[in-house]
Amino acid sequence: MMWHFSEVFTIKGDLMLHILVIAIVLVLLAVILIRTARFTSRQIEVEPAPDIPLNGEEAARHLSGALQFKTISYQDPAQFDKETFQNLHKYLEKTFPEAHATLEKEVVSDYSLLYTWKGTNEQLNPILLMAHLDVVPVEKGTEPQWTYPPFEGAIKEGYIWGRGSMDIKEGVLGILEAVETLLKDGFNPDKTIYLAFGHDEEVGGRNGASNIAALLKSRGVSLEYVLDEGGSITKGVVPGVSVPVALVGAAEKGYISLELTVKAKGGHSSIPPKDTALGILSAAIYRLEENRPPGRLQKTVRQLFEYVGPEMSFARKLVFANLWLFGALVKRQLAQSPETDALIRTTTAPTIVEGGTKENVLPRKVRAVVNFRILPGDTTENVINRAREIINDPRVEIAILEQKWEPSRISDTTSESFITLQKTVRQIFPGTVVAPYLVTGATDSRYYAVLTDNVFKFVPLMVTPRDLSRAHGIDERIGVEDFRKCITFFIQLICNSM
Ligand SMILES: [Zn+2]
Repeated sequence: MMWHFSEVFTIKGDLMLHILVIAIVLVLLAVILIRTARFTSRQIEVEPAPDIPLNGEEAARHLSGALQFKTISYQDPAQFDKETFQNLHKYLEKTFPEAHATLEKEVVSDYSLLYTWKGTNEQLNPILLMAHLDVVPVEKGTEPQWTYPPFEGAIKEGYIWGRGSMDIKEGVLGILEAVETLLKDGFNPDKTIYLAFGHDEEVGGRNGASNIAALLKSRGVSLEYVLDEGGSITKGVVPGVSVPVALVGAAEKGYISLELTVKAKGGHSSIPPKDTALGILSAAIYRLEENRPPGRLQKTVRQLFEYVGPEMSFARKLVFANLWLFGALVKRQLAQSPETDALIRTTTAPTIVEGGTKENVLPRKVRAVVNFRILPGDTTENVINRAREIINDPRVEIAILEQKWEPSRISDTTSESFITLQKTVRQIFPGTVVAPYLVTGATDSRYYAVLTDNVFKFVPLMVTPRDLSRAHGIDERIGVEDFRKCITFFIQLICNSM
């Protein structure tokens, strides 16, 4: 039988193609496996810290006392209760006599507190530990649902109950308790230590943290690091990791709100125009929601995977070690729930709609507010331009609301400061995996970015998914033992930072 030349060529060509495909698959497989093998633990090996003798019961009583001051931040500034904040100041003075005798205390903007514990070596950059004195209100009508009243500071069932016990009076008291303990031990820091407690964090921190940071800036202070609230130690929150994971905020999202207004002629609802004001406004909101910014695996989120990935099963490790290949898959997975979706994109949230007063009258003016939380790498300007393009309707006026800020810088996780934090967590909470994290909300620490490159956001508190709703919610509480641990963390951190 004779082969036609063209047939021979085809058979040979097929064979070549097969070999080529197999070769590519083998190379890919090799790359994937090598990357997986090299994807090793980023955790520091340390010995657990010896337990510090500390009276947990007494510390719990101190915190309980602080929870009884209704230092509430209301949206309406007229409701602000000056006296309660001043009484809390007095309470702290009485409760921590050593700290108040040794540290310099300054009251900033009347109600915020800045303490300075002078170090022996002025050449070294100081550290700054933060928290805030204010709490959010208890939502009207929910008081009866609390197991113990929100401002009684009940110590029951092994917990200290009350508004502020998680956010974030345990931070204020934990830090002061640590300082008081160290002072009683005769500890003398070489670096200066600042303690900064704002009074209006829950309404934006524009008088408290903002002015403390400005004051330090005016004095030429340059900090080694700032530690504020943000992340915590989570259990059962990061899928695929059975041990607790300490999420240390290394970046924070930006913030902007746009106000959309549509004006129309109004009139009787029996003869409406084709496009009503409410219809035009709704269409604009709909378009914004339909055209959300695309998802992106931003640096801090990639770092999170670099730190938690190696602690996972082989299959998951393989995926996170090869984000160049599986990035789209991971993004799709993260987009499934609002909590993780917020990690990968600038979010779009319509929060206010106003317009119309009577069922048979066409409103002459309707208004909506859409709030955006901006992913690092994106900007407020981008958000505004994007919204204009998407809405693309001259009948919709777009205004920018006053409260806005850019995403934070990304703090360096190879810095001495991050390593000190990581080490301290693993000394006090042995076996806990420490990982960088993107904070999707906003904290007071953004004001301190002018003083240091190293802003980290972390509270040494163990939370389960169920606990996450307690802060700002019902039955906010902290375990007596958890609070004691929180204090030992701050003691260890101060020692490790020297
Ligand atoms: Zn807070």
